[in-house]
Amino acid sequence: MRLLIKNGQIITHEQSYFADVLCEDGVITQINDHIPDENVTEVIDAQGMLIMPGGIDPHTHMQLPFMGTVAIDDFESGTKAALAGGTTMIIDFVIPNPQQNLLEAYHQWRGWAEKATCDYSFHVAITWWDDSVSRDMQTLVEKHGVNSFKHFMAYKNAIMATDDMMIASFSRCIELGAIPTVHAENGELVYHLQQSLLERNITGPEAHPLSRPPIVESEAANRAISIADTLGSPLYLVHVSASQTLDAIRYATENGQRVFGECLAAHLTIDDSVYQDKNWLHAAAHVMSPPFRPKNHQQALWNGLKSGALQTTATDHCAFCAEQKSMGKNDFTNIPNGVSSVEERLMVLWNNGVNTGQLTMNEFVAVTSTNAAKIFNIYPRKGAIQINADADLVIWDPKATKVLSVINQHSKVDFNIYEGMTMTGIPAYTIAAGEVAYQRGEVLVKVGKGKYINRPPYASYYQTIEQSHQRKVAKAVKRDQ
Ligand SMILES: [Zn+2]
Repeated sequence: MRLLIKNGQIITHEQSYFADVLCEDGVITQINDHIPDENVTEVIDAQGMLIMPGGIDPHTHMQLPFMGTVAIDDFESGTKAALAGGTTMIIDFVIPNPQQNLLEAYHQWRGWAEKATCDYSFHVAITWWDDSVSRDMQTLVEKHGVNSFKHFMAYKNAIMATDDMMIASFSRCIELGAIPTVHAENGELVYHLQQSLLERNITGPEAHPLSRPPIVESEAANRAISIADTLGSPLYLVHVSASQTLDAIRYATENGQRVFGECLAAHLTIDDSVYQDKNWLHAAAHVMSPPFRPKNHQQALWNGLKSGALQTTATDHCAFCAEQKSMGKNDFTNIPNGVSSVEERLMVLWNNGVNTGQLTMNEFVAVTSTNAAKIFNIYPRKGAIQINADADLVIWDPKATKVLSVINQHSKVDFNIYEGMTMTGIPAYTIAAGEVAYQRGEVLVKVGKGKYINRPPYASYYQTIEQSHQRKVAKAVKRDQ
């Protein structure tokens, strides 16, 4: 398979220039002024279009068993939606039940993901702790290409990671060269606020944001950052949604810590007024954690992306249809948490970020692809346009428009949180592993075409972290008896 892309402008996280790109057998083999179209299988004329690294969504939940049901997009429909939006790789989550063997859970998820149409990888959640968990973390890092472990500080009585678990797990991450990540929300406070709202008979979706105010997020973020600092590990915060959390990240990084922040396309676009909607299903469709925030937090997130305090954008794609959301009809705490967004992320970031002047095109590439590849240690195989990089590309038409809607989406869910929004700047083609996977409205790729991507452990972060940590540890004083 030899695919030639001609006449386009290449946009990477650091450069913009005109060149043709030749993809052969899944990788980029030539980037040149004029590549002759002899012996090629297919030619795409990208005149007037931009060639960018395919999106990497570092936070999705396909087919997740959660809150008594299972997310409706499986690895087939979810990755088709990703490709239709210009995303060529997802990093999903293995979430073992408490007491479930980690390797068993990992193999379960690998089995579900065999249907994936784009490349994928897994973070593994630490939902309980004993010696077997510690041992299995090592096997996952050394034999199965896992270099990140997730800790849910929320969801008490379910998958919540308590401080003692995080201390044990972050320490283990340091030994193994893996990076800990956290969902930062104080699960005890959330539980307390939920119960007190229910006692006052406030049971609808409007109670959801009241049970998870910004301080619940920033307290947990500060705690995780403090644990990481004490132990000497880096830290990645998923779905930062509150300005107070950004303050915590800035303080930590200015004081020498390696703290990375992710935000979601949805949090950048939608505010908490959705929970006041008179239609119960409309409000419930927006129930996700952390919840949508008052408008001022949105601008704080854009500022975080601009300043580099936030490095990545994701979706937390976890789709539940109306029937599933209705499980919480009489009690908001039973509404399955999650929204769909994997198809729309790049368009939303472009339309609301690049078109408004908040992000340059190069910054767009950084926050939708390259930074995730770097942080999760798969750069420059992913997130780059260079010789020998995987030929995962999006050919972007910056002038074309599309109205986002449940009618034309590829997700199986029956709702679109961006319904009716017109996007200017959309993917014309998505190239995955050197082949056209999506073209003008149609996903063309075969089921199961996606590959599992191994992510090797880190070396370099840990040398510097270890050195600075050594300086902090006091030497024991020898005294005469
Ligand atoms: Zn999530």
